[in-house]
Parts: sequence; C-alpha cells; structure tokens
Amino acid sequence: MKTAVYPGSFDPVTNGHLSILRRGLEIFDRVIVAVAVNPEKKGLFTIPERVDMINEVIADIPGASVDTFEGLLVDYVESVDSNVILRGLRAMSDFEYEFQLALMNRRLKRKVQSVFLMTDYKWFYVSSTIIKEASALGGDTNGLIPSSVARRLREKYDALAKEGKGTGAGGGL
Ligand code: ADP
Repeated sequence: MKTAVYPGSFDPVTNGHLSILRRGLEIFDRVIVAVAVNPEKKGLFTIPERVDMINEVIADIPGASVDTFEGLLVDYVESVDSNVILRGLRAMSDFEYEFQLALMNRRLKRKVQSVFLMTDYKWFYVSSTIIKEASALGGDTNGLIPSSVARRLREKYDALAKEGKGTGAGGGL
C-alpha cells in the first residue's frame, strides 16, 4: 500500500484540488488530504469546516481520506507511514514557491519525495483565493467548486454580511 499526503490550506476545497486528488489516486493506493493547521493564518473557514467540506466531497472517492496536521509536514508524512508529498502545479508562479518548499522538505527529511502533477487546463486559473473573491461579490463559481462548497460559501458570506463585516474582496474582480 503506497500512501501519499496532499497538503494545503483548502480554504475551501476546489475542483482543481479534487482533480489533483483523483489523479494522485491513479498513482498511489491512498491519498490523505492534509489540512494544515496554522494558528497565525486565519482563513475564511475554520479547520473543522474545511474538513467537513472535504469529507462531503471525497465520500465517493475510494482511497481518499482527510486529516489535519500541525507542525512540520515531513514529520506528519512520516507519522502516517508515507514518504510522498503530492502537490499540484498551475502556473510558473506556483513553480518557484513549490521548488523552494520541495528543496527545504528534502533537506528536512531526505527520504520524503515531493511529487507534482500539472493541473488540468480547466483548473488552471482556479485558486481558493479567487473563488472566495468571486463568491464574496456574488459572482458565479458554478463548475469550479463542488455545489456543497458553493452553498457553504454563500452561507458564510451571508453570515458575515449580517454581522456587518466586510469581506475584504474587490479590486480585480
Ligand atoms: P490555494 O493556492 O488554492 O490556496 P492550497 O494551499 O489549498 O491552495 O493548495 C494545496 C495544493 O493544491 C498546492 O500544491 C496547490 O498548488 C494545489 N492547487 C491548488 N489549486 C489548484 C488547481 N486549480 N489545480 C491544481 N493544483 C492546485
């Protein structure tokens, strides 16, 4: 059984993430979607909300599971008896940062290998950030995120509006 860990913030999970997960499962027997817990980085969704959303959308994907981790990713990878980090690449702009992360992770634990899959052209421009911006402004994200995630985004922004809180979105979109 070969296990890979697919780490990220998944705030929230998108069809781009799911594509990498499904394709990762064509190479590995198990892929653990690992949501990074970073107390300094407050996202839109809480960690339990992100895990819930992932759980809903991976229910019908054999071999996929979700977990959270805190601290060094390479330690988490080892703790689940894996030596593979799975990451997705979109544009050249991803490459530089991913290269840096991969080299550092390799330095931290040599036996852990980083594996990259190129995104499908359909998800090239999809990021959690751009989805949040579009949703906050009432834009249609249909087809870019699972419908359960779209519903949660609407609920989240409605709740923020009721609290009288701004979404921080706007500018390019
Ligand atoms: P985001 O950049 O969307 O906030 P995360 O930190 O949740 O992403 O990303 C986790 C991993 O998924 C990273 O390797 C990232 O490059 C990859 N990823 C994110 N969106 C896509 C996409 N649309 N296509 C392919 N890979 C993606």
